[in-house]
Amino acid sequence: MKFYRFQNSRRRLRIGKIMCLARTYQEHAQEMHASVSEDPVLFLKPDTAVIFSHDTILIPRMSQCLHHEVELGIVIGKKGKHISEENAMEYMLGYLVGLDITARDLQSIVKKNGWPWGIPKGFDTFAPLSDVVLKEKVPNPQNLELELKVNGVVKQKATPGQMIYSLEHIIAFLSDVMTLEPGDLILTGTPAGVGEINEGDLLEARFGTVCSLTVDVKKES
Ligand code: MG
Repeated sequence: MKFYRFQNSRRRLRIGKIMCLARTYQEHAQEMHASVSEDPVLFLKPDTAVIFSHDTILIPRMSQCLHHEVELGIVIGKKGKHISEENAMEYMLGYLVGLDITARDLQSIVKKNGWPWGIPKGFDTFAPLSDVVLKEKVPNPQNLELELKVNGVVKQKATPGQMIYSLEHIIAFLSDVMTLEPGDLILTGTPAGVGEINEGDLLEARFGTVCSLTVDVKKES
């Protein structure tokens, strides 16, 4: 059981299901040689993957190649099913910046076999999350920069406005599949520029100036 961290607040909210979208930015789909479909690609991560700022990503014994994927996170604040796009924002509590860490070598194997992504996406420490900022503090999320630096060098940079799907569409679509509940998290997919991370690297992610996350990397002992 894990709880979010909020900016300037002691609010207590348990992290629910973590719904991760893939192929939501055209240029990232291209760099992965994947096609974009009409509906978003969805997979789930366990809450045991969650770590927070100033924690450490562990390279698991089973993998030789981890990749970074910086993503905008949407935290759900209200229970809903079959939510309309018009009402979608009512169900959102706030935003965070997260990393969808991926064992790319293991993902290549499961992709080749047509298997689900549970193993390459599900290891402990594979979901670093920033503090949550309430949506009221973020009037223009579409235009804020989502950015990731590795060892001080910018590797990924985009705005949610460049996504193939709107945030409203994502919430509405997912609520047609599964009931959204307070504390659920949607990681909305990564823009182009993914790449390998190694022991000793320092990762700094931000969403505009409202959310930031710093983590380092080491091998699992
Ligand atoms: Mg991702």
